[in-house]
Amino acid sequence: MSHAELCLKKDRLVLNENEQSSSKDFLDLNDRDLNFTSEVKTRSGVDVSLCWHCKTCMNGCPFSESMDYAPSAVIRLVQLGLKNEALNNSTIWLCVGCNTCSIQCPNAIDVAAVNDTLREIAIEQGISVAEPDILKFHREVLNSIKRYGRTHKLEIMLRYKAYRRDWFADLGVGLRMLSKRKLDLLPAKSPDIQVIRSLFEQGKVA
Ligand code: SF4
Ligand code: SF4
Repeated sequence: MSHAELCLKKDRLVLNENEQSSSKDFLDLNDRDLNFTSEVKTRSGVDVSLCWHCKTCMNGCPFSESMDYAPSAVIRLVQLGLKNEALNNSTIWLCVGCNTCSIQCPNAIDVAAVNDTLREIAIEQGISVAEPDILKFHREVLNSIKRYGRTHKLEIMLRYKAYRRDWFADLGVGLRMLSKRKLDLLPAKSPDIQVIRSLFEQGKVA
């Protein structure tokens, strides 16, 4: 295979065919897992080959500034089968699944579902989580749904704060949310709690 690498840029991946300019800032295209793309497609139900890299998703994502890669670049990594890089980045963990990207995507690509799948694969394969605190937050959200059938945001925040031992950061925001009744003091149980718990027991929810 000829020398070909991808330039690591936050918002884009650029093919570099200049043999003289190889550096750690480039991804080696020989490091591809050609089964990875179809694995992600099967598990997420998303055909990433439809992405034409218009970057609309990157421009709409509220968190792209904090991510290692723009959401469109992660899709590119999956398309190319660059498995290690697709599983080892902060983007997949910072994605909150708001779907702003997929609503704006001209091809209706469900970027959040792809990121979900990448997170699952990363956990299954024991890959160290780029944003470990966020994994804890995800777990607290799921635990809340398991307990009540819906999220109890105040409890999630308190548990997360206890884990981080970080009680005072964002305290002002929390108090303002409480004063505006954006946070319920007590949890409200869903009438379908048994159905929801059975989904957890059947393993349909991680
Ligand atoms: S908006 Fe859709 S087509 Fe455009 S780069 Fe993002 S995922 Fe690809
Ligand atoms: S779903 Fe994820 S990638 Fe898409 S806009 Fe929201 S945070 Fe960004």
